[in-house]
Amino acid sequence: MTRNIPEPILGLLHDIGEVAGTGSYLVGGFVRDLLLKRPSLDIDIVVEGDAIRVAQALCERWNGTLEVHAQFGTATVAPENTDLPKVDFVTARRETYQGSGTLPIVQSGSITDDLRRRDFSINTLAMRLDQTAFGTIVDETGGLKDLESGVVRVLHNRSFIDDPTRIFRAYRYAGRYGFQIAKNDARLIREALPVTAQLSGERIRNEIDRVLLEKNAPEIVEQLTELGIWETICAGWQMSSDFASDFRAAQRAIAWASEHLADEAFDQAFVRWMALFGTQTPIYQIEALSFRLILEHRLQRLVSPAQAENRQVSLEKVTHVIFEKLGYPLSQNAVIEHHNGKWCIVDADVSIGKGKTYISGDGSLFRVETRLTAYKQLKEALALLKRSVKPSEIYRLFKPYPTEALVLASEGTTVAEWGREKIRDYLLVLRKVQPLITGKDLIAFGEKPGQTFKTRLWQLFAAQLDGEIKTKEAAYSRLEKINSNG
Ligand code: ATP
Ligand code: MG
Repeated sequence: MTRNIPEPILGLLHDIGEVAGTGSYLVGGFVRDLLLKRPSLDIDIVVEGDAIRVAQALCERWNGTLEVHAQFGTATVAPENTDLPKVDFVTARRETYQGSGTLPIVQSGSITDDLRRRDFSINTLAMRLDQTAFGTIVDETGGLKDLESGVVRVLHNRSFIDDPTRIFRAYRYAGRYGFQIAKNDARLIREALPVTAQLSGERIRNEIDRVLLEKNAPEIVEQLTELGIWETICAGWQMSSDFASDFRAAQRAIAWASEHLADEAFDQAFVRWMALFGTQTPIYQIEALSFRLILEHRLQRLVSPAQAENRQVSLEKVTHVIFEKLGYPLSQNAVIEHHNGKWCIVDADVSIGKGKTYISGDGSLFRVETRLTAYKQLKEALALLKRSVKPSEIYRLFKPYPTEALVLASEGTTVAEWGREKIRDYLLVLRKVQPLITGKDLIAFGEKPGQTFKTRLWQLFAAQLDGEIKTKEAAYSRLEKINSNG
């Protein structure tokens, strides 16, 4: 089995065994992937005793750099040779859960304790590193058998209730390796599903982020949809049925951007999330989710504490009457949930427009603003676009959108090829055009800053984009012409 370990990593593992002796183990994903003959990068070492001391000794041997998290008993060593991977060292520990969906209490323990705190049997395999038994697999929970038969199985019946992030993890491994979730586990997952609602926004977001990094994300998402997880996380959230095609578009978009926009900031996770919301998720729902899952958003204040006081209402308590008094009437079906220390009020009622999301807290009332709606809005705008559209109109239309949304739309299969061409042309050429005439030029020409000034600047730039003027002189004579026509 150690035959399949790449030579440089094998060297590192022997070093660790030599330094740490008995009580040092390679654990988790690396062992699992090694047995599955898949490449793996995360090298996780468990040490019975003091992992930090062991890490320090190896850091010296590898002439590397050390990062210590004393309160967790963990350390990471990056060897000097940058071809070699980083190695994570953790002190063997025991975990006890006090409340569902919260983080556990941690104490130091034996390798057995450490393996028993883990999620699935396939992740519970350890490999001994001490020289006397280097390479021996420790299998205390039937992980080898499950790996062979392709089964994802928790170690005890409370596992998903203790930590519902394991629900995402179970589907992620099943989807990645083509494994089945054990029958009993499928039942345990359904029982634990409501506890998912108690998870913090960050923890859910991290799990979804990791699902979206999987090649099989569409299949995994489909399974999670069948389970009904989205509705549990945020009332009314329905997965878009186009996700598979939007996800493939996101993958192409990321590949395209790393080739053509290599020296620009381009947020790949942002692209994947826009694809997840797709075009079917209503705007108010995307806003609510950006708040719930602590994705990119900002709160725009609608009512300040002083304004609330003037109207003799307190925004610490959310009721229909209070909203009525503030001039934002809610429908009877509005959903009011407490998240991230504030109230999130989602009103899907179409009679009040397209549905609204409000946030209430700190004595204020807010609306959520997020750029995550850009892809959906851009696609709506594209549907109205005519093929004969001028470059200046394209420029004005696309300018407000984040690059990520534009690249994603340019890879979308439902956008006409000519429309995709226009987006690529905008990204590669149009948006980089420098105006022939700047504000400074206009002032020197005797124009006074103001609304007309802005209009003139745009008119000249638009004419330039449309190829009507090509030199500064041409721009000035165009300006004289516009001015003389009023
Ligand atoms: P991947 O290839 O997805 O990174 P991994 O097995 O390395 O898989 P990590 O999330 O990196 O998974 O975690 C490392 C190890 O820590 C896992 O193999 C598992 O044993 C343990 N672990 C991680 N998350 C949990 C959890 N929520 N509950 C219990 N054990 C966990
Ligand atoms: Mg890992």
